[in-house]
Amino acid sequence: MTTDRIFNFSAGPAALPEAVLRKAQEAIWNVAGSGIGIMEHSHRGKVFDRIIAEAEESCRSLADIPDNYRVLYLQGGASLQFAMVPMNLLGPDRTADYLVTGVWSQKAVKEAKPIGKVHIAVSSESTNFDRIPQPSEIRYSPSPVYVHITTNNTIFGTQWKTEPPVPGGAPLIADTSSDMYSRPIDIRKYGLIYAGAQKNLGPSGVVLVIIRDDLIEAGAKNLPTMLQYRTHAAENSLYNTPPTFGIYFMGEVFKWIQSQGGLSAMAEHNESKAGLLYDYLDSSDFFRGTVQRDSRSLMNVCFRAPTEELETKFINEATKRGLDGLKGHRSVGGMRASIYNACPREAVEALVRFMKEFERANRAEAART
Ligand SMILES: *Cc1c(COP(=O)(O)O)cnc(C)c1O
Repeated sequence: MTTDRIFNFSAGPAALPEAVLRKAQEAIWNVAGSGIGIMEHSHRGKVFDRIIAEAEESCRSLADIPDNYRVLYLQGGASLQFAMVPMNLLGPDRTADYLVTGVWSQKAVKEAKPIGKVHIAVSSESTNFDRIPQPSEIRYSPSPVYVHITTNNTIFGTQWKTEPPVPGGAPLIADTSSDMYSRPIDIRKYGLIYAGAQKNLGPSGVVLVIIRDDLIEAGAKNLPTMLQYRTHAAENSLYNTPPTFGIYFMGEVFKWIQSQGGLSAMAEHNESKAGLLYDYLDSSDFFRGTVQRDSRSLMNVCFRAPTEELETKFINEATKRGLDGLKGHRSVGGMRASIYNACPREAVEALVRFMKEFERANRAEAART
């Protein structure tokens, strides 16, 4: 790490791989020896053609994406996917099932409700989303058009460890915004995956969508052109001007993941990083994790200190030490360390070191309360 950069634990936009930032710096000036910066190239020119094709190639090879799936780069964030999914696939008389495990799932439900029938097959809201439900708790509707999950709950710090069982024939649709390509993923188990780039994949402004051909074909046709998946599939994400820089950057992140050893290496790196924090939380009687053990996210680690005063003090002192972005989301309080793919192990080591120091220095004060 260069000395002018600090450790960034922000939930999103989040830290990006340094090697990619350096390369992008050059590409902004002059990409691929073209004499023109990446943001200045026509999206219909040869240089960008190659960039988008290479991005797709790397994206596909990372997860061995089968030929009957399309890789699309869209705009409007994951939030527009909350609406595009039901607009294309739900229809007024059919029912879609949602597994509700946090604020982002709730937002997905909110967008689907005006479009068709929504069945909440399970929710962990009663315990403030501190866990991922057991498969035995899920109650599906008789024949859902699709089943929607949020694979990693960015705000609450929980993560599905495996896909839930889904009724036969119903495509599984997943918001993977905050854990996309943080571990191996079997695309064949899904009908559609979407991920806003700004947590694990690149800058904000581009959304990765991986969708199976039959769902593109099944999509509603009475929608504005831009809101139909088929438009973007038919035009290779070039129906209108795509987010060219975001696509370039994501492509470089995919290559970076390959250079690190691919998705299983990423998973190992993430497990070991998160393990450092969780092991310390388990051993501490000062700090405590906020979610149930078997539901812990490897991407967002949420924890509390004994009092809110100590939490404010912790966050302020951490910031002074160059440990930034640790304030938890207001619906959970406390602290959250977001440690996506690009977060180096040294960042987590520095955080744990500081937590130990803070615990020692403030134990007496905590005992008085
Ligand atoms: C950040 C996030 C979103 C929202 O993404 P936008 O790109 O801001 O719309 C949706 N879902 C999850 C799981 C997220 O982490």
